[in-house]
Amino acid sequence: MKWEGYRQSSNVEDRRGSGSGFGLGGGRISAGAIVIALIGGLLFGIDPLTMLSVITGGGSSMVQEQGPAPPAPPGDTQAAFVSTVLADTEDVWTGLLRQENKIYEPPKLVLFRGAALTACGQGSAAMGPFYCPEDQRIYIDLNFFDTMANQLGAGGDFAQAYVISHEVGHHVQNLLGISERVNAARAHLPRSQANSLSVRVELQADCLAGVWAYHSQRSKGWLEQGDIEEAMNAATQIGDDTLQRKTRDTIVPESFTHGTSAQRTRWFTRGLQTGNMTDCNTLEAGKL
Ligand SMILES: [Zn+2]
Repeated sequence: MKWEGYRQSSNVEDRRGSGSGFGLGGGRISAGAIVIALIGGLLFGIDPLTMLSVITGGGSSMVQEQGPAPPAPPGDTQAAFVSTVLADTEDVWTGLLRQENKIYEPPKLVLFRGAALTACGQGSAAMGPFYCPEDQRIYIDLNFFDTMANQLGAGGDFAQAYVISHEVGHHVQNLLGISERVNAARAHLPRSQANSLSVRVELQADCLAGVWAYHSQRSKGWLEQGDIEEAMNAATQIGDDTLQRKTRDTIVPESFTHGTSAQRTRWFTRGLQTGNMTDCNTLEAGKL
């Protein structure tokens, strides 16, 4: 991605230096621990790139408002990259929602290390990036990107952009009232059916990430050879079946909460091909 030099978002909250890594012995958590927790989390229904309230059912509001964020400090390339991608999602989604006569209220994106207080409860780096609808914030420990590259086999800047835009996709679902409807429905369902509804929500976020990528490329033309493949590969490597295959002999589809590798790449591709949100109706799709 040729991302340098574009606008950075003012919606990044940098909590990496604030010492909020309580509960985990100083905040740092090793990349190995993240992988173990990511994979182990599958057994308990916790997955990377999730929407936190689905897991916790919401929680107390403990988030203090802060002023607009300054741009990433010079030399902090990863933070600058995240901020630049976030800014582009703001541009794209503002335009797309305007076409629907809706106003896009951009989410905040919190950079943290180890653990973070959220309105959905305590977030941990071990969960991977997540979105909390209660405070409309995306939480990312940048170490996750190293884990993706080195241990999940999903490196590349556009793989990271896909992760960010997937979380932004959850924010769009929240703004459109989709998350609320799904959570209400989920509450009355047995575990296996609730999980399959989660899969549909996650695949929709993948599709919305593709929609963003379509419009982003149309306006900036900043993708380079191999970028799309990086996103596809990331979608593959963090598919439920692929993650489960790495850790156990049998695959348990009932426990899936994000969809298979094939499903994740298919829905990302669908959004990417048309750039049309109406093609992302995973909730009613007969075939995922
Ligand atoms: Zn997700």
